[in-house]
Amino acid sequence: MARKRVGVLALQGDFEAHARALERAGAEAVEVRTAGELDDVDGLVIPGGESSTMLKLLDQEELMEPLREFGRHKPIFGTCAGAILLAREVTNPPQASLGLMDIEVERNAYGRQLASRIARIDAPELDGGELEAVFIRAPIIRRVGSAAHVLAAYRGDPVLVEQGHHMAATFHPELSADSRVHRRFLAKMEKDAVDAGSVCLHR
Ligand code: GLN
Repeated sequence: MARKRVGVLALQGDFEAHARALERAGAEAVEVRTAGELDDVDGLVIPGGESSTMLKLLDQEELMEPLREFGRHKPIFGTCAGAILLAREVTNPPQASLGLMDIEVERNAYGRQLASRIARIDAPELDGGELEAVFIRAPIIRRVGSAAHVLAAYRGDPVLVEQGHHMAATFHPELSADSRVHRRFLAKMEKDAVDAGSVCLHR
């Protein structure tokens, strides 16, 4: 099977760690900074960082619409700030987003004391269950729409959610050695390619 080409949005944040994690999971990682570069990838990771800074850069580079369009056809995986950008609604404070997933997220929701920590979380739907989750000034997903599906939770709040071909994590799977979360995303890309192929065949 050909290695999937996965873009990593490389405007700000920890895109390098994601690129390494994608390679560990068996994909080819490509840094993406322009709309043109989106044409060459089968899926995209939006990394953690600072979502408000990323938003400014996305506006500057006129990337918001191209990303929405990309997301209509291809899978996107947003982690932490990336999850905030994927959400339909953002609070604390409210800010613009791509609105590709029917979730509502509250930024920096664990407060200062618990800003960063490594936790073991329950992930019954990932092979092997329990998962290490690195949280860094993480948001909390406050509402999950009926089309979205919770894959893992921590202290009762969803921390890994999927909807169609998109996936969002409030933690940083790229900072753990375990590549199950990235592999789940690659499997989505695989399924997407098969579905697109069968659509073509049936035309
Ligand atoms: N606190 C950041 C934000 O609100 C997200 C932190 C992260 O991506 N690790 O955008």
